[in-house]
Amino acid sequence: MLKFLLHTCCAPCGIAVIDELKTRHDLTVFFYNPNIYPEGEYLKRKKYVVQICEDWGVKMVDFDYDQTAWSEATKGLESELEGGARCPKCFRLRLEMTARYAKENNFDIFCTTLTSGRNKKAEVINPVGVELGAKYGVKFFETDWKKDGRQEKGRIMVEERGIYRQNYCGCVYSKAYDADKAREAL
Ligand code: SF4
Repeated sequence: MLKFLLHTCCAPCGIAVIDELKTRHDLTVFFYNPNIYPEGEYLKRKKYVVQICEDWGVKMVDFDYDQTAWSEATKGLESELEGGARCPKCFRLRLEMTARYAKENNFDIFCTTLTSGRNKKAEVINPVGVELGAKYGVKFFETDWKKDGRQEKGRIMVEERGIYRQNYCGCVYSKAYDADKAREAL
């Protein structure tokens, strides 16, 4: 059984993945998402990840909410839209912390639930994970969690459990972008 560290961005993206991996591996969920704004939203998203892990007896690491690190990592890219140049920096920050933690704590492999997101491209996220895996000497598990019916399975699990599903990606700019779109639609 591999000692597996799974970076988890939120419960809707993570629930089907955690369910799948929890019996196959010695699984630990890693919550490091300093991109999420505001703090109340961060705590709300985290609460449901904690709940899933407690319900299923899965280990969880609750890492820092370091908004300064996120702001520095994405500096100069504030006006980018979701899917633009800011997002790979945001992925890298979160995956780098995951890879470093995996190395320091003797994990065999690490991964992220980020590829579950409908607007998150595996071909952008996976190369970042592979590069950081090589840097820290821990294998990165390359996959696209959107495949093989996991999105639908996750959607049903979230509905059945009354889990909160956010309507914006996470950062202050993605929140503003959604608000602008909503205004345009009025
Ligand atoms: S839109 Fe999402 S992925 Fe992109 S920078 Fe903001 S929080 Fe990160």
